[in-house]
Amino acid sequence: MHCPHCMSEDTRVIDTTHDNKGGIRRRRECEQCHQRFSTYERPVLSTPLIIKNDKTREEFDKEKLLQGIRLACIKRPVSADDIERLAGEIEAKLQQMTKLEIPSKVIGDLVIEGLRELDDVAYIRFASVYLPLGNLNALRDEINRLLEHKGENA
Ligand SMILES: [Zn+2]
Repeated sequence: MHCPHCMSEDTRVIDTTHDNKGGIRRRRECEQCHQRFSTYERPVLSTPLIIKNDKTREEFDKEKLLQGIRLACIKRPVSADDIERLAGEIEAKLQQMTKLEIPSKVIGDLVIEGLRELDDVAYIRFASVYLPLGNLNALRDEINRLLEHKGENA
């Protein structure tokens, strides 16, 4: 580790602290100029590779995820902040799985789950495009449930 003040390589660690996110902060002192500085190490989380339906793999693409969610939310009362937050939460969940690969279905399920809480119409839109035909009955049940729920509120 070079001293940021004089670029000397001759520095020593005088204190080490751990934070609650798995990071390590080291307080250092340069043996040459005696200035102090800190370095911070933290684990870099990586997202798993996505296994597509045709078994090919692709890198997780947050922009693509955002576009999918935005598309479902067109002309719906869902704020850009909510969309960003949902995509961020999904990305964080994928990283926490600490797997090398996951099926694309896992992401689709997380989007459906998230949209369900944000907006009924966006949720149905996304689910109708995403769910396989066999699940359309489940979707119909879901629409019925929503309609009944609306009826109760009216
Ligand atoms: Zn120095």
